[in-house]
Amino acid sequence: MSILADYHLHTDHSGDSTAAMEAQILAGIDRGLSYMCFTDHYDPEFPYDNVPDVAPGTFELNYTPYRDEYLRMKEKYEGRIHLRFGVELGLQSDLYRDHASYVNSHPEFDFIIGSNHLCGGTDPYYPSFLKERTEEEALCLYFEETLENLRAFSDIDSCGHLDYVARYLPHRDLFYTYIGYADRIDPILKLIIERGISLEVNTAPLMKGMQYFNPLPDILARYLEMGGELITVGSDAHVPEKVAGCFEETALILRSLGFKYYAVYENRKPRMLPL
Ligand SMILES: [Zn+2]
Ligand SMILES: [Zn+2]
Repeated sequence: MSILADYHLHTDHSGDSTAAMEAQILAGIDRGLSYMCFTDHYDPEFPYDNVPDVAPGTFELNYTPYRDEYLRMKEKYEGRIHLRFGVELGLQSDLYRDHASYVNSHPEFDFIIGSNHLCGGTDPYYPSFLKERTEEEALCLYFEETLENLRAFSDIDSCGHLDYVARYLPHRDLFYTYIGYADRIDPILKLIIERGISLEVNTAPLMKGMQYFNPLPDILARYLEMGGELITVGSDAHVPEKVAGCFEETALILRSLGFKYYAVYENRKPRMLPL
């Protein structure tokens, strides 16, 4: 396997996962990973009122037990796999002060993914989202809000699942193309390049049977063309079966696009590994 680092992983410290951290680690060792970075959810002020089947607090990471278990596991698995400590921060542009204080008060994180889980104030995961929008409107709104979020707060290491909303469209990624949304996507790519942020390649859609990972290969090709080189790769696994999911296939696509390296982070500093 040529991608040896899974930099987007959840455990039961996220309210939407029941996977024990140790079970995730054993799956990673079994798949031949050298690096695993846990990135449990911290989504401040998630609009629980709009998604009634999600219990309030589901995405609010309880830092201390998460950190304690990580340190125990890191010691236990020393010499077998390199473990790293991260978070998936749910961005909302008007919460930039909260994001800054969270990041500044937790310098122990090796890696911070900044993700947009909302579109028009709700999570597109929930079916009510598309009742009042076309696919095109949903994509436009999602990219606009992602840009607003990153303009407001960019102290992150990787931009998570850039076209996340496509996972939940009726036609998923069958018809949507980079070129149809270039005027909205290019400013996002430009901003992350200028600020030295990685673009995440999130393989979860491949595991769900979609054609591509997030974001579309054409978006990654455009990123490279604009001078973007930093990428991280993550399975977004909430269960052990999905750790490092579709990494072989992803490596082939990334190499065919012209990528030669992917990044691993420690103490929030990137280091490139060959692809
Ligand atoms: Zn996410
Ligand atoms: Zn995630």
